[in-house]
Amino acid sequence: ESGSRSRTLEGLDPQQSAAVLAPRGPVCVLAGAGTGKTRTITRRIAHLVAAGHVAPGQVLAVTFTARAAGEMRGRLRSLGIGETGAAVQARTFHAAALRQLRYFWPQVVGDTPWQLLDRKFQAVGNAANRVGLATDRDTVRDLASEIEWAKASLVGPEDYPSAAARFHRDSPDDPEKVAQVYAAYEQLKTRGEDGMLLDFDDLLLHTAAALENSPAVAEEFRDRYRCFVVDEYQDVTPLQQRVLDAWLGERDDLTVVGDANQTIYSFTGATPKFLLDFSRTYPDATVVRLERDYRSTPEVVSLANRVIGAARGRIAGTRLQLVGQRASGPEPSFAEYDDEPTEAAAVARAIERLIAGGVPAAEIAVLYRINAQSEAFEEALTQREIPYQVRGGEGFFQRTEVRQAISALQQAARRDDLPDAVGTELVTLVRAVLAPLGLSDTEPAGAQARERWASLRALVELTVELADRDTTLGVAELLRELSARAEARHPPVVQGVTLASLHAAKGLEWDAVFLVGAVDGTLPIAHVLGDASSGPDEAGIEEERRLLYVGVTRAREHLQLSWALARNPGGRRGRRRSRFLAGLVPEDSPASLVAAPKKASRSRPRCRVCGKALIGSTATMLGRCESCPSNVDDALLVDLKEWRRETSRELKVPAYVVFSDNTLLAIAEQ
Ligand code: ATP
Ligand code: MG
Repeated sequence: ESGSRSRTLEGLDPQQSAAVLAPRGPVCVLAGAGTGKTRTITRRIAHLVAAGHVAPGQVLAVTFTARAAGEMRGRLRSLGIGETGAAVQARTFHAAALRQLRYFWPQVVGDTPWQLLDRKFQAVGNAANRVGLATDRDTVRDLASEIEWAKASLVGPEDYPSAAARFHRDSPDDPEKVAQVYAAYEQLKTRGEDGMLLDFDDLLLHTAAALENSPAVAEEFRDRYRCFVVDEYQDVTPLQQRVLDAWLGERDDLTVVGDANQTIYSFTGATPKFLLDFSRTYPDATVVRLERDYRSTPEVVSLANRVIGAARGRIAGTRLQLVGQRASGPEPSFAEYDDEPTEAAAVARAIERLIAGGVPAAEIAVLYRINAQSEAFEEALTQREIPYQVRGGEGFFQRTEVRQAISALQQAARRDDLPDAVGTELVTLVRAVLAPLGLSDTEPAGAQARERWASLRALVELTVELADRDTTLGVAELLRELSARAEARHPPVVQGVTLASLHAAKGLEWDAVFLVGAVDGTLPIAHVLGDASSGPDEAGIEEERRLLYVGVTRAREHLQLSWALARNPGGRRGRRRSRFLAGLVPEDSPASLVAAPKKASRSRPRCRVCGKALIGSTATMLGRCESCPSNVDDALLVDLKEWRRETSRELKVPAYVVFSDNTLLAIAEQ
């Protein structure tokens, strides 16, 4: 045993080893990004098997994506525990439930046949039709996501309207109507021609019910599986937790790992509450905290700590400071550009330099908030002939809405709907052609509709850019230019630079990360900021901050955050750098500004926006302008204590912070 023990503990620190060696029973590893959580659970499985505590087939490890499950199987195999890796089941919740249900169905339900529902949107569309709601593609998709959210949250149709209000759901229609669609959809599924139809969430519901209601099934199952492991436990939904509880029954042989600060899937019903309550649920749990960050340089770790250090709310209460273990590297850099094509070209140039310097393209990622942002970066990389792949999505020109838009333009051109318009006129006409496809003036409600809207808008912006460059551009040339771009794009490659949304980047790491488009309205995304009629969604804003944290912590060594003040060259520079970067960007950090306004140190400093005296508090060591909250929000609070620590400069209090237009201008002492 000692041989296998030393192998399964090789390359682990004492806390990681403690989690690996913890006795069977409830174990919870609570730790930040890059601390080796995934490594630790994989080793724990290997250890339990190698030490003979459990047979490989008795282990069920669940993760949230098929890819992560595959990666875990690979890691187990490569741990050199023979065929063991192959026999341990590492699956998503759904895949595990599907397998079990196939086996248990006759015993629990009997002869009634069932099938996986493979035309979900059609079923939701039929249900919407019955209720008298629109059945266009986007509405149906948004209705389907709402139903998924409700089922994952264990909310039935009757309770949907009140739950939707409580959780700030972005319902595609009147919540009462959505509830009716939900009820109709559930009813439709019970009377399929070939028996019952089950959607993915039904797989989980029926699995839990089978174990809860049939002692024989429960006994057989519990005899088969004895040890459960869950990665990314902060993303478990109440429905998945119910399945997990059903799997466990009275037993408690469960290892979970997670980081509440990486909760970024609340919109699907995921909640960190089960992670945060774990030691209350299992009072004798072994709880291990990991603080050493093995992934990133201390410079990246320090920025990550500061990003998440500003978080608020219950999740933020679980804050863990990461301590970087790697050798020092370059400081993360921040870059502001006039417009998006300039930002994209600069990022492509920097990527080219990294590749020339020996960083493999596959070790570089460009991360953004929404998929519609990929266009400019795909174009810039194509220009430099740098291979790339878009992760978890299609390239810009492959997206359904973009293909539809181009074909609508082609048809309009053939029908001569677009006369010989050039320049700005062309843009107006393009807008008119795209309007029926979903290009409204204001951002629509519903995630699908928003995504489509963002892609169409990106296409219009691209037209604006091309029309600016060539004022004689007509519709034929525009279509030629668009198809040339679409064709020039590289075919999918595996070893290229990764372009990915922040959501799709979770759990992964690269040597170099370019986090782009860090502007207010994109990160945080516009719809959480609210408007005149609705206030800001504070919980939504916090989730956006965690997305930034996830992005920053993907970088091993090189990290650049960038933003553009306008979309197009020469466009209105109306954008603002992401509020989450306040106080983090060196140019406006207190250290470089302290010498700025001499006068301010004598008289009480005045806000440059509203002219009123600034407020500073000795007690909290925070300074802000409280007179013009529209310009200065809480995210701009500057922690003077932190500043003192960093600059090792003594500051006499009270001290005041001078803001102008969301930018920190100076710290002044009195
Ligand atoms: P995330 O929260 O992003 O999912 P994680 O906590 O799961 O991160 P891992 O992916 O397991 O972290 O590990 C991060 C990196 O650190 C990996 O490259 C891993 O191989 C490495 N690593 C983990 N533990 C150690 C260790 N004790 N010594 C050296 N490297 C380690
Ligand atoms: Mg992990």
